Amino acid sequence: MSISQLARSIPDSATLRLNEEARILRERGEPVIHLGIGEPKNKTPIGAVLSSAAMLNLGDIKYTPTDGIPSLKKAIIRYTEETYDRLVGPENVIVSVGAKQSLFNVLFTLVNPQDEVIILSPYWLSYPQMVRMVNGIPVIVASEDGTFHPRMQDVERAVGGYTKAIIINSPNNPSGLVYSEAFIAEIVDFCEKRDIYLVMDDIYHKLVFDGRIVPVAYSYTGKDIENTKVIVVNGVSKLYGMTGFRIGWAVAGRKLVEVMTNVQSQTTSGPSIVTQAAAEGALLGLQSVVESLRLTIQNNRDVIMQEMAGFNGVHVCRPQGTFYCMVDFRAYTANSVDLSNFILKKALVVTIPGVEFGAEGYLRLSFAGSVKDITEGVARMKWAVDPASPNDIYIGDRRMVRDWL
Ligand code: PMP
Repeated sequence: MSISQLARSIPDSATLRLNEEARILRERGEPVIHLGIGEPKNKTPIGAVLSSAAMLNLGDIKYTPTDGIPSLKKAIIRYTEETYDRLVGPENVIVSVGAKQSLFNVLFTLVNPQDEVIILSPYWLSYPQMVRMVNGIPVIVASEDGTFHPRMQDVERAVGGYTKAIIINSPNNPSGLVYSEAFIAEIVDFCEKRDIYLVMDDIYHKLVFDGRIVPVAYSYTGKDIENTKVIVVNGVSKLYGMTGFRIGWAVAGRKLVEVMTNVQSQTTSGPSIVTQAAAEGALLGLQSVVESLRLTIQNNRDVIMQEMAGFNGVHVCRPQGTFYCMVDFRAYTANSVDLSNFILKKALVVTIPGVEFGAEGYLRLSFAGSVKDITEGVARMKWAVDPASPNDIYIGDRRMVRDWL
C-alpha cells in the first residue's frame, strides 16, 4: 500500500479519538465521565427542528447552490449586521460543512506552498494540521511572558516575508481567554498595513461570561469588506449547540468567496439542504436559546472553578468564555499524555492532553456537560492525582486503588 507522505503525516484529531474511546468504554458499561468533549448538552432549538422537518416533509432534498441556499445566506447577512455592525452581500458569504470546512477552504484559498500561517499558542489542534494539509508552514507563537494571552511583540517577531495569514480564536479554545481590545486593535491594524490576512475564528464569540464584551475585529479597520484583510468564520455548532448539523460559514471579500466556492464545488458541493434549513431556523428563531445556553455554561464555569480550588498543586486560568479551561499540572508531571491516560485508566475521566494544543504539562477540561459530571469528574481526578487523597474509592461498585503514574 502506498500512502502519500503528507496524508501519512496527518495525525487523527485527539479530541475526536478520545470521544470515540469514551463512547466505547460507555458501551461496555464503564461509568466514564467525559470532560473532553466540546459540545453542550442542550436540545436542538425548536426553530431549527421545525424548519429542517418542514424541508424533509417537502420531500425535495436535492443539491443546493455550492455556496449555500439564498435564504440561509440572507439570515447570515442579518446576523453579521446585528452582531458585527457590518454590511455584507450574498457574494461575501459561503456556507460550508461546519466552521472546520470554512477554515480549511480559507487556508486552501490563501496559502501557497511554503507560505507561513501564524498560530497563537495555545491553539485549537486542527489549525497546524490544516495549514500543513495545504502545504503551508504553521508558525506557532507563544507568549513569552508565559501567559496564554498573545502579545503583539511576539507576533511581530514571527512575521516574515512568507507570512500569509494569522489565525485568531478569541474566546480561545483551549484557554477560555478573551483577547484584549488593545491586542485585537493592534493586530487588525498590523495586518491591514502589512497585507496579511487575519482569520478570525469567531465560533465562540457569543459564549462569554460576566458581561464581558468580545472585541470585534471589523471595528478596528477603516476598510470595506472588499478591501479588508479580515475574514470571519462562524457557525451554529457552539452558538446553538448544533454540533451535529455541521453548518459553518465564512465572510470575506467577493473574490475570495468565489475561489472558496470553486474549491468547495470540487470537494463536497454545498452542505445538505436539510441542515442548512435547520441553521436558518436557528438564526431566525428565538435567540433566547443562546442566552440560556450561555447562562448554563457560565454556571458550569463557576462550578468547575470552585471544584478546582480545592485541588492541591494545580493552577487554572479562569475562563472568560468557551467551555474549556486549561489546568496546569506541571507540579505533578510534565507529560500530559501520560497524565491523561492515567486519569482515564484510573478514574475513568476523559481529559485532553495539553500537548495537543501546544501547552505541555496542562490538561484541557471541558465544562460543557452536566454539573454532576463536572463535580464527580474533578473529585475523581483529585483522588487519582493528589497524594493527600484516600487510598481507595468506589466508582460504581468497583473499588479503585491509588497508585501513581
Ligand atoms: N474552531 C474552533 C476553535 C473549534 O473549537 C471548533 C470545534 N471544536 C471549530 C472551529 C469547528 O467547529 P464546527 O463544528 O463548526 O466545524
